[in-house]
Amino acid sequence: MPKDSKPKDSKPKDSPIRPLDLIAADSLLTEEERAIRDTVRQFGDDQLRPEIARWFEDGTIPARELSRQLGSLGVLGMHLSGYDCAGTNAVSYGLACLELEAVDSGIRSLVSVQGSLAMFAIWKWGSEAQKQEWLPAMARGESIGCFGLTEPDFGSNPAGMRTTAKRDGSDWILRGTKMWITNGSVADVAVVWANTDDGIRGFVVPTGTPGFSAPTIKGKLSLRASITSELVLDDVRLPETAVLPEVTGLKGPLSCLVEARFGIVFGVVGAARDCLETAIDYAIHREQFDKPIAGFQLTQKKLADMTVELTKSFLLALHIGRQKDEGVVTPEMVSLGKLNNVREAIKAARDCRTILGGNGITLEYPVLRHANNLESVLTYEGTEEIHTLVIGQAVTGIPAYR
Ligand SMILES: Cc1cc2nc3c(=O)[nH]c(=O)nc-3n(C[C@H](O)[C@H](O)[C@H](O)COP(=O)(O)OP(=O)(O)OC[C@H]3O[C@@H](n4cnc5c(N)ncnc54)[C@H](O)[C@@H]3O)c2cc1C
Repeated sequence: MPKDSKPKDSKPKDSPIRPLDLIAADSLLTEEERAIRDTVRQFGDDQLRPEIARWFEDGTIPARELSRQLGSLGVLGMHLSGYDCAGTNAVSYGLACLELEAVDSGIRSLVSVQGSLAMFAIWKWGSEAQKQEWLPAMARGESIGCFGLTEPDFGSNPAGMRTTAKRDGSDWILRGTKMWITNGSVADVAVVWANTDDGIRGFVVPTGTPGFSAPTIKGKLSLRASITSELVLDDVRLPETAVLPEVTGLKGPLSCLVEARFGIVFGVVGAARDCLETAIDYAIHREQFDKPIAGFQLTQKKLADMTVELTKSFLLALHIGRQKDEGVVTPEMVSLGKLNNVREAIKAARDCRTILGGNGITLEYPVLRHANNLESVLTYEGTEEIHTLVIGQAVTGIPAYR
């Protein structure tokens, strides 16, 4: 299998500027934000890019080794404070997601699930003992976390979940099945959401607990460089202390999802940028009818339209990041960002694929890999339709989910 042959510095020699340089995007970032961005980009180029096509083809990643490397890099739970987390601002976290997703959405998914779903749930809603036990090890990437909300029959509507947690003396007994759980079969700890007599509660479940199993889901055509699993909870007995004490109800998992969606708003800009830079480079060097295909107006229209949309997506992500750092971001704002940026990224990936012609369907180039990955990103963390309904409700005041 050829390695991903995109050169490390993919800036086409004959191209005057990179797409995002058209608006001098760097001038909108602080020195520290640029430094974090550059460090993650370098890590991606050196450690991930040479391997990613092979991981995608094999349908797996060396999760444990990768998680330790990402922990050393400082990106796991990097926007959280304390407990050995880096404590950066939200924009820096977003930029890290962008650079990781420029390599592959699967790698960004690992980081999102670890930091924004599993760690955030414990950080925000956990007991001090739960935080001390798990967060430092998860920040270092020594422990991997997963987040079990979706079920086979309840995806967009998690309120209907069938997984239950029943009291048995002072213990809890968890019973049910979760579906499509990123990192599930490699996780050391699962944050599992279940119905109790008091409503939905979160549980911190060490994956070695008897009755817990996590079969890997095979045959994925998307997000292949990511591990996705089922979680089977077969009368898993947990102590009283396993429950996340600070939250009851759907607000718990939804608060985590907003965090993870925020990373996606930035992340997919990276996937789109990688596709666009690849397509520009290819179009400049590929000749047909005795001239570079970049010299055809139809190709330039595609490239120009994508450059405009990429720029708008980046500005939207940055604005939402700044709002988050100001503490005024709303779930609707994040929904708007996710809806727009994923939609534009997947469109860009498909259009870039056309520019690469036949070569575009291979793993030699990243564009169809990104396009396929983005199919998952379009669906997880709230589907395109659900985010449309969120915005529809925000502007009309009328919920249209049912
Ligand atoms: C690769 C991958 C990784 C994932 N990782 C995780 C994870 O780590 N943890 C986790 O808990 N989950 C995870 N998920 C699950 C993901 O969040 C769900 O797939 C998603 O919420 C959609 O649920 P569903 O697949 O059951 O689709 P459904 O909810 O069945 O939706 C099917 C279609 O119906 C549409 N639809 C549903 N309701 C409405 C409505 N009211 N109006 C209009 N259209 C509607 C949807 O938009 C969609 O187009 C992952 C999924 C994938 C693919």
